[in-house]
Amino acid sequence: MVSRVIPVDPFDLVIFGGTGDLAQRKILPALFRRHCAGQLTGAERIIGAARTELSSTEYRTIVAEALRKHAGSKACGGGALEAFLEQVSYVALDAKGEVGWTALSDQLRPVEQAPVRVFYFSVAPGLFGPLAERVQRYGLANADTRIVVEKPFGRDLASARDLNRTLAGHFDEGQIYRIDHYLGKETVQNLMAVRFGNMLFEPLWNSQYVDHIQITVAETVGVEGREEYYERAGAMRDMMQNHLMQLLCLIAMEPPAKFDPDAVRDEKLKVIRALDPVEPHHIVRGQYQARLDPEAPHPSYRGLVNNPRSTTESYVALKAHISNWRWAGTPFYLRTGKRLVNRSSVINVMFKDAPHSIFGAEAGRHANHLKIRLQPNEGITLSVTIKEPGQGGMRLVDVPLDMSFAEALGPEGGDPPDAYERLIMDVVRGNQTLFMRGDEVEAAWAWTDPLIAGWKSRGDVPKPYESGSTGPGDADLLMRRDGREWRGINP
Ligand code: NAD
Repeated sequence: MVSRVIPVDPFDLVIFGGTGDLAQRKILPALFRRHCAGQLTGAERIIGAARTELSSTEYRTIVAEALRKHAGSKACGGGALEAFLEQVSYVALDAKGEVGWTALSDQLRPVEQAPVRVFYFSVAPGLFGPLAERVQRYGLANADTRIVVEKPFGRDLASARDLNRTLAGHFDEGQIYRIDHYLGKETVQNLMAVRFGNMLFEPLWNSQYVDHIQITVAETVGVEGREEYYERAGAMRDMMQNHLMQLLCLIAMEPPAKFDPDAVRDEKLKVIRALDPVEPHHIVRGQYQARLDPEAPHPSYRGLVNNPRSTTESYVALKAHISNWRWAGTPFYLRTGKRLVNRSSVINVMFKDAPHSIFGAEAGRHANHLKIRLQPNEGITLSVTIKEPGQGGMRLVDVPLDMSFAEALGPEGGDPPDAYERLIMDVVRGNQTLFMRGDEVEAAWAWTDPLIAGWKSRGDVPKPYESGSTGPGDADLLMRRDGREWRGINP
């Protein structure tokens, strides 16, 4: 088996917003796990930078606690934590002021020792511009410098364009890494491997053989802790415009000529540009209700955001059409929501029925379907029709050919790195394949904006749905009207 740890060039990494939630839950644990995997040399400097006045010693205590909570039980032991913490330091710095920038410059190694510098902007988007400007003005950047920006990348086309323009004023597009952690998932890359590495699927991957495709990203959590942001965003902006759109692109894109960042992103962009506007009656918005169960009570969305008249959707389902030769006539049904019955991100490619059954109606008929599980339990299942074992004539049943990555590749294969681990290492390597390009983000907003404007102008109110359910009944109708059904939202 190929070595799973491919060394990367020496680098230093600055986390702006180093005391924040994302840094503590995702970025620092991801770096620590790569350290445990032997991918870091031990010389890297990992510098937290944020507004709070802290010494590096105090910061290391915060980092140690964050790693204890979030690095996972399989993170390494035996002095690894102490070794990692030695690489960590802190600078108190104001993104909008001049305090702390010279100190930050002093903490970075000379570029001869660490040619790659990564600046992770784990802060509100309003700080991207001031940070980018100062990173350049204080001479912290060179051609090998990369910046990483988090979602939300804008709240509409105009603000995304502004952000792109601001960043382009300081960095080349090749230095800007817009992160969408869904793209870092093992299965997402496997989706490309399955499609483009096998002869089996690609000839069938079109409207002649695929009846429809379902993409579901279901969460059991509500919007706790993110009330203010979420009330202004809603599921369309928070999930559909980015995560589900990216999954749609990977499923629907043409084979790129090579697995190269721009070749892949060019193909994804073509998919977004080929999307038809969605008809108003092909979108269902929902909002979760309180759960009154005394064992596990839960406030309603409106109660939580403290706005009894809120019209923000915590659920959205829609039917999209891609107007190109491959997909004309095959609908894509997308849905995402909070407080649903299970946590599950899955893509179902539903193939058409065989054109004729030689076994007669009584044998039953089952169309093939390919299920791509992103979380939990990443893997791929292909359902195949076989004869039901036993006597008594020919009866057909569906059996799954299941490929669970954990089973297929472990234990020697080890745990696949989580999305942030992979993506941060890709940034260090300078590989942008799994990051969104500026024009992709703008095209996604250009498709999303009219949908949001449409329901604003119609005064659309989201349909209520029960907490812990599969979403509003109207989303089922969206499918039933077409003679189809959603697959279950299973754990
Ligand atoms: P947070 O509020 O927990 O942390 C913000 C950080 O920014 C803090 O370290 C704070 O000190 C720092 N900061 C604020 N103003 C500053 C200034 N003027 N100068 C220097 N530092 C300043 O936020 P978070 O949850 O860590 O999120 C950070 C970014 O990542 C946001 O844009 C958020 O939308 C995005 N994001 C977060 C998550 C998540 O799970 N937390 C997920 C996806 C995207």
